Amino acid sequence: MNKQLADLKDILLMGPGPSTVPPSVYEALSAPTIGHLDPSFIAIMDTVKSQLKQVLNTQNRLTLPMSGTGSAGMETCFVNLVEPGDRVLILTNGVFGVRMQDVASRCGAEVESLDFDWGTPVDPDAVKAKLSANSYKVVALVHAETSTGVMNPASEIGAIVRESGSLFVLDTVTSLGGIPVLMDEWGVDALYSGTQKCLSCPPGLAPVSFSDNALKTLDQRSSKVASWYLDLGMIRKYWEGTKRVYHHTAPINMIYGLFEALSLVLEEGMETVFKRHMHAHQLLVDGLKSLGLDLLVEKTFRLPMLNAVKIPDGIDEATIRSRLLNEYRIEIGAGLGPLAGKIWRVGLMGYTAQPGFVDRFLDALGKVL
Ligand SMILES: *Cc1c(COP(=O)(O)O)cnc(C)c1O
Repeated sequence: MNKQLADLKDILLMGPGPSTVPPSVYEALSAPTIGHLDPSFIAIMDTVKSQLKQVLNTQNRLTLPMSGTGSAGMETCFVNLVEPGDRVLILTNGVFGVRMQDVASRCGAEVESLDFDWGTPVDPDAVKAKLSANSYKVVALVHAETSTGVMNPASEIGAIVRESGSLFVLDTVTSLGGIPVLMDEWGVDALYSGTQKCLSCPPGLAPVSFSDNALKTLDQRSSKVASWYLDLGMIRKYWEGTKRVYHHTAPINMIYGLFEALSLVLEEGMETVFKRHMHAHQLLVDGLKSLGLDLLVEKTFRLPMLNAVKIPDGIDEATIRSRLLNEYRIEIGAGLGPLAGKIWRVGLMGYTAQPGFVDRFLDALGKVL
């Protein structure tokens, strides 16, 4: 192998994603590339769709991985559901809510934002008040805000949105594979995720699922979907039915990788996977405490897979991060926006959520501090 690539061994990815990839996923990625209409490949696509339904806890027929990263999943939801002039409400308490506002406005929506302090959760009572006085075609929420480490109450918000008659769009890029995601039970109409967070597959695919309600909205559009590449009406003809129709060449090997990553999660069992994340999180919190470090987010709303660690006064945070990477081959993340310089983001996503990796990080952090 080319030396620049061969030198990349043993880096522990403990940032906000991508997470460390397990060996069997790398093996799956290097399986032989075959044709995108080969019956053997179509059988793999069908398995991946049914695996996705299992991890999302949904019966939705339209459940598939879009070509592109998590942001392509975000764009898929808005570009298919929103037409120019539609009213959209984004519940915002971090970077990814802000990104949703940008994406929805590029689809021509009239976008409103209901804002909450970064580091605190979206408040269901405020959402209820907003929806009783206004009506929207779409209300969108980020389940796990990776920029702050906050878990938003998706189930409660889902019930409120359903009552209002709006479509509920949920970002599960960081939550899927780390904490429960109950798409049907929560009344989610359109959901997107990504592969490189708690599924521990390299970046490149965005699982998406649409409810019957969302599909009806798509079927009743008066204008064409503004993106040819992300048009689910066309893409589903390649992913569903007995006669598959070419749309774009599927990223074959990425789908092998996702197939293996989902198999690992389902073989381990979802409950066991969630417990493993909680256990690693607890070990991390305890270890940080003995180093004199604390977390930004109040305990009840903390994400196990994304820990926002407050940076002590007088510490040059960028130096600590670059020493961790250069001397210990461990990557952690910086704070974003108003939290830049105030927090480190320590990820325990998917394969990275293991006691041995937590110990390796705590040991290295103790030394560099
Ligand atoms: C990472 C992330 C995204 C964007 O995904 P990309 O793969 O970077 O495009 C969107 N939402 C959340 C909550 C994320 O953590």
